[in-house]
Amino acid sequence: MPAPQTTPGGLVICPVVQFIVSQDGLSAVLLADHSDDGTGHCRVCSAGAQSGRHRYPCLTRVYADTASEVERLSARVRGRST
Ligand SMILES: [Zn+2]
Repeated sequence: MPAPQTTPGGLVICPVVQFIVSQDGLSAVLLADHSDDGTGHCRVCSAGAQSGRHRYPCLTRVYADTASEVERLSARVRGRST
């Protein structure tokens, strides 16, 4: 097993979060799309025809939130070292 990826700050991040962070601007797009529709459900995540929408925050939102936090921390660490 490869060692878990970490941010410059030493935070361990999962592969999904790692992928989002690696795509420029993706976390912002996901955060905009996967938002509360006003009824406590995700605007875009369907849970199937019968059950309507996934409850907010959906899993994608949680990943995007984490990715956004990793980007923020990474920027801070990079800023400190220069
Ligand atoms: Zn969603």
